[in-house]
Amino acid sequence: MSFQSLGLSKPLLDAIQKMEYAEPYPIQSKAIPAILSGKDVQGNAQTGSGKTASFVLPILEMFHKKKESRNLHLKVLILVPTRELAMQISEVIDSFSEHLPIKVKNLAVFGGVPLNQQMVRLKNTEILVATPGRLLDMVSTNSIHLGKIEILVLDEADKMLDMGFQDEMADILRLIPAKRQNILFSATLDTKLDKIKSSVLHNPEIIEIEAEVQNLDLIKQTAYIVNAERKGPLLRHLIVSQNMVQVLVFVSSTRTADNVVAKLKKNGINASAIHSKKTQAARTEALSGFKKGKVNILVATDLASRGIDIQFLPFVINYELPRSPKDYVHRIGRTGRANSPGEAISLITLEEEPHFYIIQKKMGKRVEKIDAETLDFGF
Ligand code: AMP
Repeated sequence: MSFQSLGLSKPLLDAIQKMEYAEPYPIQSKAIPAILSGKDVQGNAQTGSGKTASFVLPILEMFHKKKESRNLHLKVLILVPTRELAMQISEVIDSFSEHLPIKVKNLAVFGGVPLNQQMVRLKNTEILVATPGRLLDMVSTNSIHLGKIEILVLDEADKMLDMGFQDEMADILRLIPAKRQNILFSATLDTKLDKIKSSVLHNPEIIEIEAEVQNLDLIKQTAYIVNAERKGPLLRHLIVSQNMVQVLVFVSSTRTADNVVAKLKKNGINASAIHSKKTQAARTEALSGFKKGKVNILVATDLASRGIDIQFLPFVINYELPRSPKDYVHRIGRTGRANSPGEAISLITLEEEPHFYIIQKKMGKRVEKIDAETLDFGF
């Protein structure tokens, strides 16, 4: 994937080259075309993912396309939680817009500096990057009008809520036109965001970028050494004895996925499979059932599991090990997110043990082993 293929014009491509960005980061490949198409976008990505350029570039492209017909009024509002982020985004806008034939003026406004200083610089500003409190101060002194906003960006929306900006955000939403494009970025998928998402976004394109697992210490890892034919009974034993109600089980083939699901169902455990041989509709249904708690066990292959975003997933079970240690970390990283502890259990045959040794070595962690042969499953 190249920046050229994303629909950006030459001046912006030149700017990108000057910044020495070799190719788009995943969030950029997805968000840039979606924003250019005029859709609302919800991006789940952390700082460091390249999220700033993912909304700044398409916004500037839209300015560039309008060319001469542009009126110099405020069209884009970017709300951010902190002054540091406001300044950072403003600088990114400056460096990308440098090459545009018609300049786009952007301004960052935030508390802690005299209001007047920022007010005098407002003239001809087309993109405003603001913290919510300072923006409302400016509105109340009549120094700014939000009636012609066409695009609203809420960056680090989760942090804005954490910092108590909920009421300010609601006030701002009342001041801007209802018809506009909305872009919302958040590092977490916290449910506290649900209200703001539903009030702001219309049919958004949802873009989820996996953060690398930062802290494996949050995940309790255990490995059971077990004969291949006892894996099924052990899986059922673990689910039943630990009262597991939401488990993502990983297998290495679509056939095993279907077999495991069939066995679980036969034993009265509610399970669904998600893999490449299922239709998109069946996958969506399985995932939504799992998220809603209608399906307790979701059995997935690695490929199908990408993009599964479930908050606070308590258990991941490796019914079979993945080939690469990276995939192992990726799998177990689905639990222990957002600072909530999770548990990852691997079912390992004697033949798989040397491979598991390599996984542990690469991950830099030793995993406690339990000999399942000594366990009485009770069935
Ligand atoms: P952000 O997540 O927006 O704070 O960006 C994190 C860092 O990645 C910043 O220093 C950007 O300049 C840099 N960056 C963003 N996109 C790219 C890219 N496609 N290639 C290389 N670096 C990038």
